[in-house]
Amino acid sequence: MPKPVIQSTSILKHSLHTVGITLLLVYAAFTTAQSRQPVHLPVPGGLVLLAMESDHRPEVQFEGRRVMVLEGDSQNQWMAVVGISLAHLPGTYAVQVDGLKSISFDINPKDYETQYLTVTNQRQVNPTADDLVRIRREKAEMDRTFVNWDDSADPVTAFILPTRGVVSSSFGLRRFFNDQARSPHSGLDLAAAEGVAIVAPARGKVTATGDYFFNGNTVLLDHGHGLISMYCHMSRINVTPGDIVAAGELLGAVGRTGRVTGPHLHWSVSLNNARVDPNLFLAE
Ligand SMILES: [Zn+2]
Repeated sequence: MPKPVIQSTSILKHSLHTVGITLLLVYAAFTTAQSRQPVHLPVPGGLVLLAMESDHRPEVQFEGRRVMVLEGDSQNQWMAVVGISLAHLPGTYAVQVDGLKSISFDINPKDYETQYLTVTNQRQVNPTADDLVRIRREKAEMDRTFVNWDDSADPVTAFILPTRGVVSSSFGLRRFFNDQARSPHSGLDLAAAEGVAIVAPARGKVTATGDYFFNGNTVLLDHGHGLISMYCHMSRINVTPGDIVAAGELLGAVGRTGRVTGPHLHWSVSLNNARVDPNLFLAE
């Protein structure tokens, strides 16, 4: 597990001219008090944890989207948790705090491995025009869920594994289906026998379920504060939209619906609409 390090001297530079709030590097305080905080990994597909000080809960935005903010253990201390998508290039970025000031941070490069997959169903590699209409409709439904903001409950910062399986494809793989380049792997694949239970990795609200073209039988869970998780290729779905589930509660079962080469759970985790490595939220 990489040791979280808050980099960026620019944070200090910005904090010298504060407007209403004071931003400080107080990372150490969080590592001891919140043992179940997500892992800081400033790469595409990773998470950036930014400590700050404020006399109120700061509203933090990244590229116009609200970002999860955790309460610190001592007074006036906060930690923004920023999801970084696989599409972000390495470089310097910034979050906005209360619309008043910005804190910059660096995203470092990461080389993800390449994976070649063979899919026998040609339509799942080169969909027909009708399929594309369906794919676009389903994508819109999923996208709406990924951008939802619900802060009615405390933030969820750690997950348990949603199923008993072995990792068959890690997050971020650069993918080729039948030798054609496709989007990188935006989740974690856990291979298990068909019918093995899939459970909620944390408290959440079921926001969508469906039988999607690529993802097969799918459940989307909203954990609040921009943290959304998705379960795909299920053989069975045991929940309906609107259900509130607790950690460990049954969502359905592992299957092989949609575009698959064998039974497995594809598990995606999204933070501020960035698909990030689910491992970063797994309790050690
Ligand atoms: Zn997958």
